[in-house]
Amino acid sequence: MLSPERALQIVLDQAYLLEPVELRLLDSRGMTLAEEIVSDMDIPPFDNSAMDGFAIRSLDTLGASLHNPVRLKVLEEDLPAGHTTQKSLMPGYAFQIMTGAPIPAGADAVIPVEDVEMRNEEIWISRPYKTHTNIRDRGEEVWAGEVVLTQGKTIYPADIGLLASLGRSKVAVIRKAKVAVIATGDELIDIEENLQPGLIRDSNSYSLTAQIAEAGAIPQRVGIVADQRELVRQALERSLMECDIVLTSGGVSVGKYDLVKGVVEELGAELKFWKVSQKPGKPLAFWTYGQKLVFGLPGNPVAVMFCFERYVRPLILKMMGRGEIFRPTVKAALAHDVKIKTERTQFMRVMVGRKGEVLWASSTGAQGSGILRSMSLANGIATIPPQKEIWKQGELVEVMLIREIEERPERLPSA
Ligand code: AMP
Ligand code: MG
Repeated sequence: MLSPERALQIVLDQAYLLEPVELRLLDSRGMTLAEEIVSDMDIPPFDNSAMDGFAIRSLDTLGASLHNPVRLKVLEEDLPAGHTTQKSLMPGYAFQIMTGAPIPAGADAVIPVEDVEMRNEEIWISRPYKTHTNIRDRGEEVWAGEVVLTQGKTIYPADIGLLASLGRSKVAVIRKAKVAVIATGDELIDIEENLQPGLIRDSNSYSLTAQIAEAGAIPQRVGIVADQRELVRQALERSLMECDIVLTSGGVSVGKYDLVKGVVEELGAELKFWKVSQKPGKPLAFWTYGQKLVFGLPGNPVAVMFCFERYVRPLILKMMGRGEIFRPTVKAALAHDVKIKTERTQFMRVMVGRKGEVLWASSTGAQGSGILRSMSLANGIATIPPQKEIWKQGELVEVMLIREIEERPERLPSA
C-alpha cells in the first residue's frame, strides 16, 4: 500500500498555480501577491517632525547650557500635521510644530516640547541640538523606484498598510481555489431535519467547508447526495464544472454501496491512487480530471478531516501560490505509552502542551476514525510510524500543529 509520504508527493505533483485576479486592497488579505510592487514615490513624501515640539535652527542652540540658556522667539503661526507654511524660519525664532507636520524651510531640528521651558512668547533651551534631531527624512522608509513587496509574498496587514500608503486601491493576487464538497450516504440528513431510526446528521460537509474556508479557499457545499449512481454522477459533473477541486465524503471504501470510485472513473477521471497506508483515512482516493482534481475522502468524520489536513490543505495552498504550505511541526514527548498495529502509520489526535522546557503530547481520547470529539479536543496530529508496536512514554514523535500549543499545563490531560 502507498505510504502517506508518497501519497502527499503524488498530490502535490498535480498542483498548478491559479491565475491572478485584481482585487480591492482589503480583499487581498492572506492572499499571494501576483505582481511586484515598485514604489512611485518617496515615503515619507516630505521631511517631517517626529515629535510635538519646536522647529528650530540647530546653529541657534550652539553653546546653550543650563546656566546660559538660549532664548528663541516662538512665532505666532504654528504648524499642525497636514499644514504647510510659506514662511521660512529666521535665526532667533522657532515654530511650534506637531508630529507629522512638514519641516519649514530654514529649520533643521525639532526640540520636543518636554525639553524646553516656555516663558511668555519664548522658549528657553538649555543644551545644544544637532542638525537633524527628531526629523524624519523624506524617503527614509521607501525610495521612489524601490521594490517594496516581491511577487509571491503573502499579504499581511502591514502589507495592506504599505500598499495603502503607496496609493494602491487594487492589487493583483493569485485567485482563491474553489473547492466543492459532496457528502454521499443514504443515512445522512441535514442539520434541520428530524432524525429517524438509522439516520445520522451529515457533519462532514460542515467540517470540510470550515476547513476549506480556514485554508483561505472558497468552499462550495453541494450538500448531501444519496448512494445512487445517477445522483452521485450529477453532483460530480456539476462540481467539476464549477470548481477547481472536488471533495467527496464517504462511498470510497469496499462496501456494496460505495459508488463514488466507479462513478468518478466512468466520467473519465484518471486514478492516481486509492488506499494509503494510514490510520485514519485508509480508503483515500485521488484522481485527476483534466486540470480538475478530485479527492474521494473516506466517510468517517475524523478520517475526512485528517485527509483534508494532510493532503488537501497543502495542495490548495500550493495552488494559491503560498510559500509555506505545511502546518508547523514540533517534536513532542509522548505523555504515555502508545500501542499501535504495525501495518500502517498511525496518526494520533493529541493535545500538545509545554511543561517547563519540554513539549508533551497526550492522546485526546478514543482514536476511532469516527470519533470527532477527540479531534475537537486536539491541537495536533502526531505521526506514529509503523516500525514498532509499543511506543514508550517520553519517546519523541513528530506532531503537526493544527492549533496553538497549550501553554497552561493545568489544562493538559494527565500523563
Ligand atoms: P462510508 O465510507 O460511506 O462507508 O462511511 C463510513 C462511516 O462514516 C459510516 O459510519 C458513515 O455513516 C459515516 N459517514 C459518512 N458520511 C458522513 C457524513 N457526511 N457525516 C457524518 N458521518 C458520515
Ligand atoms: Mg457511505
